[in-house]
Amino acid sequence: MKKIFRRIIKITFLAILAAILTIFTIVLFPQRLFANKIKYKQFTVYSNDKIADNIKIALDNAMKLVQKSELYDPMYKYNIMLCYNSFYNKIDDKLLGTGPSARATRNNVIIKVRIDPKSNLAFATFHKACEVNLTELLAHEMTHCLQANKYGIIKFNPFKHPELWKLEGYPEYISRHTELSGKNYSLTSEINRYMNLMSKATGIWILSEEGGCEVPNYYYKGRLMIEYLMDIRHLSYDNILNDTVSENTVYQAMIKWKDGIKETQK
Ligand SMILES: [Zn+2]
Repeated sequence: MKKIFRRIIKITFLAILAAILTIFTIVLFPQRLFANKIKYKQFTVYSNDKIADNIKIALDNAMKLVQKSELYDPMYKYNIMLCYNSFYNKIDDKLLGTGPSARATRNNVIIKVRIDPKSNLAFATFHKACEVNLTELLAHEMTHCLQANKYGIIKFNPFKHPELWKLEGYPEYISRHTELSGKNYSLTSEINRYMNLMSKATGIWILSEEGGCEVPNYYYKGRLMIEYLMDIRHLSYDNILNDTVSENTVYQAMIKWKDGIKETQK
């Protein structure tokens, strides 16, 4: 009797282990789950649907943004998984939760929502339905891949990572470079806009931009703080990651700088 009991426990344990290993393999290496793939420069794009040729334009534009990052690695290759309505999406939702329009695991950029490459849009659904710039979404996730590539998956993974403002602020900063380097752009006005939004916010969700999307406030706050530290204080991302100064201290220094600019303009 004891022997049978022991055998049952052993078989159950092995079955659970096999299931866990299968799920991890699918999450880390989902390529085989997709019917179609195309190769383009450093990218391999996977989808169950026909892959529209103009995805290449969005990929080229995303690459131009990512090339500006100090983490850029010309040899790095990305898998772009267009997962909308796929079996993979269901597993991902179950394991990591529904919500984000996209995520990055290893060198896989997982786009979870419907996209329209022709209009360069992704259609976010979580919290509220809205339109996201597809190029910026790709560049944001590609920057996450590069974070893990440079600093290792042990330091950058869904369970262990730097503070959220450092984790999300940097990909936001890189992916929005076109807007941030525009003639009419002003960091001080953006900080004022953020403070104004926060004064009216009742939770963590705040309106991010055109397209009607709302994001957790640390995306916006993190991007402003990274932008301040890199463009005004001339720190590298590496400096910022290694710096132990608290989020609040950096934020207060940024506000002081903004108020100082206002004073000199009076
Ligand atoms: Zn992110």
